[in-house]
Amino acid sequence: RARRTSEDPLVFFDPNEDLAARDRQFLKSELRAAIGNGALILHFQPQLAADGTAVAFEALVRWNHPTRGMIGPVDFIPLAEEDDTIVKMSEWILRGACREAASWENPLRVAVNLSPLHFRSGNLPGTVQAILEETGLAPDRLELEITEGVMVQDFEQAMSMLRKLRDVGVRIALDDFGTGYSSLSYLQAFPLSTLKIDRSFTENLGRVEQSAAIIRSVVGLGHALGLEVAAEGVESQEQLDFLIAEGCDLVQGYFTGRPADIDAFRRLTGRDIVQRDEAPGLRSA
Ligand code: C2E
Ligand code: MG
Ligand code: MG
Ligand code: MG
Repeated sequence: RARRTSEDPLVFFDPNEDLAARDRQFLKSELRAAIGNGALILHFQPQLAADGTAVAFEALVRWNHPTRGMIGPVDFIPLAEEDDTIVKMSEWILRGACREAASWENPLRVAVNLSPLHFRSGNLPGTVQAILEETGLAPDRLELEITEGVMVQDFEQAMSMLRKLRDVGVRIALDDFGTGYSSLSYLQAFPLSTLKIDRSFTENLGRVEQSAAIIRSVVGLGHALGLEVAAEGVESQEQLDFLIAEGCDLVQGYFTGRPADIDAFRRLTGRDIVQRDEAPGLRSA
């Protein structure tokens, strides 16, 4: 084994790094296996209209690891993105979310986050179309959430991909809006349905003076472009009141409903009449 020496700084062995790498490899193989064995699960978080009606649910993936417990997407999506695991995983998520939504009595929308890698991969529009046909979900009930990064990286590729997806009939939301590098010309050019104002702006309401002005402007901008505007990260009545007063079309956050197993929302989806514990202010469509 090579060892770190002062004479030869370029060749060294760091047991911690080595262990971490092996750990990572192992975790990756576990993750690949999790896709097929029930350890990946989908939680859903409601998006409400101003009158408190549920309009959509966002699917949020979690990994129920046998020994490490519940792992959030921020911690394992990057791992999946190191190889094509992300594509397999994304297809599993897409199929699961569409199948779930197709089973609801109330025809609410379902929103699915797309990894930039999946967005750029092969035949995404074909896959989406096939999954819609297989599950019987109407295309306009599916909203795909992309982030600003995919638009900036390769304008032509992103434009052609989004056009094909819109031809399939699905909706496109721009997630975490305001945190990336998108310019107003992208907003004008891309066939989007929804702008989702990033959680940080909602969070700063009442704390950072400018955040109210930013939210007001984004709502105006979105509406002027014919887009629906959603706000994420709503955690208080004050934030909710402000967003509704400013004309936000949809709100989403811990205050209006934490992400949970879909069974917690049966009254909203109308899948059956069993009533479970629900978040404040929720009414069924
Ligand atoms: P995102 O799409 O912006 O999702 C919203 C995140 O904010 C979720 O975290 C949600 O649990 C959290 N959240 C919702 N309401 C509140 C609130 O009021 N306060 C706070 N502090 N947080 C709130 P989560 O589930 O950990 O997901 C994090 C990110 O991971 C997502 O951000 C999305 O970018 C990614 N992600 C989640 N599920 C998927 C998936 O199925 N596929 C892909 N590719 N990415 C996913
Ligand atoms: Mg999202
Ligand atoms: Mg978001
Ligand atoms: Mg976010």
